[in-house]
Amino acid sequence: MIFGEESKKRTRIGKVEWEAIKARYGKKCCVCGKTERSAGLLEKAHVKAHSRGGTQYFPLCPTCHTKYDKGLMTVTELRKLGLTREDYTRLRPKKPKKKKEGFFF
Ligand SMILES: [Zn+2]
Repeated sequence: MIFGEESKKRTRIGKVEWEAIKARYGKKCCVCGKTERSAGLLEKAHVKAHSRGGTQYFPLCPTCHTKYDKGLMTVTELRKLGLTREDYTRLRPKKPKKKKEGFFF
């Protein structure tokens, strides 16, 4: 896995902002609905969804975050994050996919 590249590009958000994001999602994991209390903590999942036009943060419990990073999310779970399968495939690093050709401006 490539961690270095990702962290360099990461936009930092403040504690206040993060609390606001968590509050917006009811202080629960976006995917499984575990509360911060039952999960122990909620982690910042940094998601770049092209279909939603940019970067967003979602609160995820450690289990779902790991699942997300490993590419094990199901389509149903992804939908809860507003992502499509295609987004997910594109977002995940380490897939030597060919660049699309025939891109015209
Ligand atoms: Zn979860």
